[in-house]
Amino acid sequence: MTTRKNVAVTLIAQALSERLPWASKGACKGKDMRWWFPSGENSVKDRTTMKQALAICKECDVRQQCLDYALNNESDGIWGGLTTKQRNSLRRERRYTPIIQHK
Ligand code: SF4
Repeated sequence: MTTRKNVAVTLIAQALSERLPWASKGACKGKDMRWWFPSGENSVKDRTTMKQALAICKECDVRQQCLDYALNNESDGIWGGLTTKQRNSLRRERRYTPIIQHK
């Protein structure tokens, strides 16, 4: 069934692959992008599709580029093998990690 959300997710994926050269090498290319944009993280279906997306990200050759991009540009969805919550946590850690200078 085609919903407005499915169409929007497909359009976002197409636009990103055209704008970000590394995206065409992503392991998610051609997959059902709804797995990367679950409507929540609480239902069994969402948790299952999120696990499938995260497993694909784990094997992706451009994972680091994807994560770097997402940390600066994306607030929703799975990017670079991290969920929205995990990226928010990483952003907080990086912001508050003191710089230790070795002498
Ligand atoms: S890390 Fe995940 S979301 Fe990013 S390009 Fe690779 S498979 Fe796609």
